[in-house]
Formats: sequence, C-alpha cells, structure tokens
Amino acid sequence: MYQGVLRHYRERLPLTEATPLITLGEGNTPLVAAPRLAREVGCAQLYLKLEGCNPTGSFKDRGMVVAVAKAVEAGSARIVCASTGNTSASAAAYGARFGLRTLVVVPKGNIAAGKLAQAIVYGAQVIALEGNFDQALDIVRRLAEAHDITLVNSVNPYRLEGQKTAAFELVDDLGDAPDLLCIPVGNAGNISAYWKGFKEYHQAGRSHTLPRMMGFEAAGAAPIVRGVRIEQPETIASAIRIGNPASWKLAVAARDESGGAIQAVTDDAILEAYRKMAQEEGIFGEPASAASVAGLFQLARQGMDLQRARVVCVITGSGLKDPDTALKMPQAIREAPPNLAAIEAALGGF
Ligand SMILES: *Cc1c(COP(=O)(O)O)cnc(C)c1O
Repeated sequence: MYQGVLRHYRERLPLTEATPLITLGEGNTPLVAAPRLAREVGCAQLYLKLEGCNPTGSFKDRGMVVAVAKAVEAGSARIVCASTGNTSASAAAYGARFGLRTLVVVPKGNIAAGKLAQAIVYGAQVIALEGNFDQALDIVRRLAEAHDITLVNSVNPYRLEGQKTAAFELVDDLGDAPDLLCIPVGNAGNISAYWKGFKEYHQAGRSHTLPRMMGFEAAGAAPIVRGVRIEQPETIASAIRIGNPASWKLAVAARDESGGAIQAVTDDAILEAYRKMAQEEGIFGEPASAASVAGLFQLARQGMDLQRARVVCVITGSGLKDPDTALKMPQAIREAPPNLAAIEAALGGF
C-alpha cells in the first residue's frame, strides 16, 4: 500500500530516525495522457501530471509534509506561512492533523474562495493582509526570525525537498525523464524542486536523460522574464501573482542548466488553455495550472519542433479551488419549469 512521500522516497529525503513518517496521502498522483491537446500542439506525446489530486488539492502537500515532519521533529509547536492560497490550505491541513498551531497571512481579497474555505475549516488563524503576497512573505519571514514559530514557505528548504518527489514519480511512471517539462512559475520553488529531483534521479542512474525545463509566468506577474521585480503583479491566475519570487536564482539556474526557457503567457491564453483542458480532456485545473498548457501552445506557435517530443505539463492545483473563475466563463444556462415539454423547448427541440 502506498503510504505517502516520506515513506515512499524515504532514502532520498533528508530524514532521520527521529523524523515522524507522517502522511495525509500526498503524492502518487495520476499522469494522464492528453491526446487531443497533443494533436493540436503537434507533439508526439503529452501527459498531464494531476497535482490537484493531492489531499488539499495542490502540489504544496508534497513539500508541506516534509516541512511539517521536520517541524514536529524539532519540537516546534507553531507554523506560519504567507500564501496566495494553496500553501495556507496545505499548512492548515497538516498543522491540524499533526498538532501544530497554524498561522496564515494571505493578501486580502486576492485569494480564491476554495482556498480560503480550506484555511478556515482546517482551523488555521487567518490574517488578511492589506497588501500583496510579496509583502506577506516579507512579514512572515521577520515573524519567524523574531519568534518561536516555524516558517513553512518554500524558503524552508524542506519544502523543495518534498516537492522534488514529483519529478521522481514522472521518471518512475515514464521510465525516463520527459523531453520537456512545462510548469507554471510563481514563487519559483516548484520549477527549482523538479529540476533538483530530475538531477538527483539522473545521478542515481534512474533516468538516462534530463528534461528541458519550460517555466511560464503570467504576463502581468513576470519578474523573471522581464528581469525586474514587479511591484503590483496582476493576473487572473492568483497562485502565480507574485512579483519577487523567493527562488528566482534557482529557477534561472534550472532554466539555464537544462537548456530550457522561462516565458510569459497572457491571461487570455491562460483562460483558453483552462477551457481546453476541461472541455477537450476532462481535466479541471485551476487557472495558474493552465499556464503550463498555455505555455506549450505558445512554444508550438513560436515554431518549436515538438514532433518527436514527449511532454509533461504539470497541473499544479484543482479547478475546484477557484469556482469564481469557472462561473464567469461564458455559458448558457437556460431556466425551465419542471415539465418535459418545457425542457425540450428550452433545449431547442430534439
Ligand atoms: C504555488 C502554486 C504555483 C506556483 O508554484 P511556485 O513554486 O510558487 O512557483 C502554481 N500553481 C499552483 C496551483 C500553486 O498552488
């Protein structure tokens, strides 16, 4: 029986005899073929890594389980994070389950409804900051320096250690690394963690190849692409609405060492990919997740030769996190009274 990333990848994680092997069932997420999208972009094989299938609905659980295990091992009683939503949901869940008080600081009015609901129901202390994510991160870093409370943002190195296990899973499932890995970039921890995972597995002889790392920022929140901090990042993809990524340098190293690229995708392209994933493949990812698919379409448009490429797009979080974006999509719900004739008429007749 699969028992979570700590047990499954125990020998590749920085654990000791004293680390509790806790789990909420994170990891071991599906890798699903996306044949229609593959045909449209013209690549040989396309797979979606469904990280929304983690216990709190995003990849953040992979890193959080390691960070929380190490906090418990160190005797910590409290954890804190800044969050665009998913880190707070994950911290709140693992904190609740494993006996830590959890404090989360989120940008007021800028967090998707499902994520806020999770932080509340798991019993975290929630502070809505009159500011953005970057300011929230700055404040919780200072809080953790001044007080006896463990910071569980991705500046905590255990987060990236846990998140690298997704790269291991890809190689375990595919038998080798993909040719291209397409991934959304916000605080830039995940792209860095995948690259670390791919390199470690390659060095251990578990794969023959390394992927090119293709990261995608939202156009209104693209500090790495533009080479400057963005003071007021803006995008519909709230999970990547970040103007000063904590793992900026690591992400640039992942890009350069792998021969990859980091590009910007527009909100329109993100929403188009969001719709296509759902309507052509039956996969409901949150908007930030769709940046990876939007990015792949962009690479195809730019003329990249994908004909023989095996590509993985990381679908970082569940679409259910952000119902408001879905409900704003153009759609035609017709109302009808409860009788057959009226419903036939509303459908335009059979
Ligand atoms: C956190 C998050 C991202 C961005 O990951 P980073 O490690 O911050 O670059 C993308 N998508 C979702 C759904 C997330 O929760």
